[in-house]
Amino acid sequence: MPRENPYRPFNPNSAQMDLMPEISGNEINGLGETEVRNPAVVYWAKNPEEIPHGKMQSWFYTVDPGLPEFAAERNKRQAILDQDLPKVVGQTAYYPEAQWQKKLEKFVQDNDCEKIGVTELDPSWLFEGERTEFRHVIIAAVHHDYERISKAPNPIAGAEVMVQYTRAASVAKKIAAWLHQEGWEAEPVTGPMASRLAMIPAAIQAGFGELGKHGSLINPEFGSSFRLSAVLTNAPLPLDEPQTHGVDDFCSSCKICEDACPPFAITADKQLVRGIEKWYVDFDRCLPFFNEHQGCAICIAECPWSRPGVGLNLAKKLARKSLKTNDQ
Ligand code: SF4
Ligand code: SF4
Repeated sequence: MPRENPYRPFNPNSAQMDLMPEISGNEINGLGETEVRNPAVVYWAKNPEEIPHGKMQSWFYTVDPGLPEFAAERNKRQAILDQDLPKVVGQTAYYPEAQWQKKLEKFVQDNDCEKIGVTELDPSWLFEGERTEFRHVIIAAVHHDYERISKAPNPIAGAEVMVQYTRAASVAKKIAAWLHQEGWEAEPVTGPMASRLAMIPAAIQAGFGELGKHGSLINPEFGSSFRLSAVLTNAPLPLDEPQTHGVDDFCSSCKICEDACPPFAITADKQLVRGIEKWYVDFDRCLPFFNEHQGCAICIAECPWSRPGVGLNLAKKLARKSLKTNDQ
């Protein structure tokens, strides 16, 4: 028996719903489309006036979270984003792969982020109309504090997301600044505003985990409880490989996020999205609750992989099970 959901039934704020555009966000996302195409920006546009859901995006900021931490964190992040990067130096550095790897891992050791990886850039990840000459994407992940994110949809969880977006922006700027000093051009790409590329497929290729039923990545170390940022570059960095830990199968028989999502935005089966069958969250159902609760995050907090110490054990258990099945 699923737990009773304390946030159901959810009756969205009517002033917000008046701002809902005619076009469905699922249509913008390409739900049901059979052809592969680049993603379109559906939300968190740098200029909300350029997207159909822009009025709803602006409404998000009218909801008072009642915590001064929100404004302070936004200002802190903006100050980081406004900082100029150092100029690219004339001397271009070349190192053996192991040395590049060591230099990348230094960002984890210094607590700038909790995970770092690199993949080749697939142009199909770029948002419609975006172009780049860069061939590599560095992905960095920053881990939420579980105590705070587990309070979702209380604003404390939203504030924690903001704190981690600030760290994500900071590490992307630091990595880009370091590459400039090594003589390589580099461009930081940071959320939450959508810019340049969809980060989840890049992170999957860079070994950060698998897509969960709740539409977020799942990684054994951090569950779904992390944020991403990226840096584009041509520096000849060692590339990572995608990693699987049995998450996809696990999600097929787990319903925790489906039951926990107040507006029933998480569905039992994968769906066809821009030519690819995958887990997909109903954008039109999620958005009103998300907007009224500082980003919600219930599905991330409730996912069993996100609980401290659970993900790694779960991955080991699933690996043993898969070995047994293969031996039979
Ligand atoms: S709660 Fe369960 S179904 Fe949902 S993403 Fe996590 S593991 Fe998958
Ligand atoms: S973030 Fe969206 S999908 Fe996740 S629980 Fe909240 S409303 Fe549901």
